[in-house]
Amino acid sequence: MPQFAEICSWNFRNYHLIPTAKGGTDDEDNLWLACRLCNSYKGTQTHGRDPVTGRRIRLFNPRHQKWSRHFTWSEDSAQIIGKTICGRATVIALQLNNIIAVMVRREWVAVGWHPPKIE
Ligand SMILES: [Zn+2]
Repeated sequence: MPQFAEICSWNFRNYHLIPTAKGGTDDEDNLWLACRLCNSYKGTQTHGRDPVTGRRIRLFNPRHQKWSRHFTWSEDSAQIIGKTICGRATVIALQLNNIIAVMVRREWVAVGWHPPKIE
């Protein structure tokens, strides 16, 4: 188990990928390590819209997809950049570059805690 949230790298706990309200189960396959902020932005969403193509696409699933294939850090490591349709839609849907996250990442960079080594 990674010691960081699987998308934004913050403190985490397990949340449902497909919400139980939409029929999701408690199987490990349906849980993701997320921070409270990401999970609150995700809400019951399972899909998002790519801001470039306008296509609706399933959100990034850390259980089955590789972070580095869909995301990268900005040059100052404060922002998450979507590299694929899925990555871009997830950045928007989960507001991964919300002002609080970006502020905290800048502080973490300053003390050497960030960016994490994400496979
Ligand atoms: Zn998060």
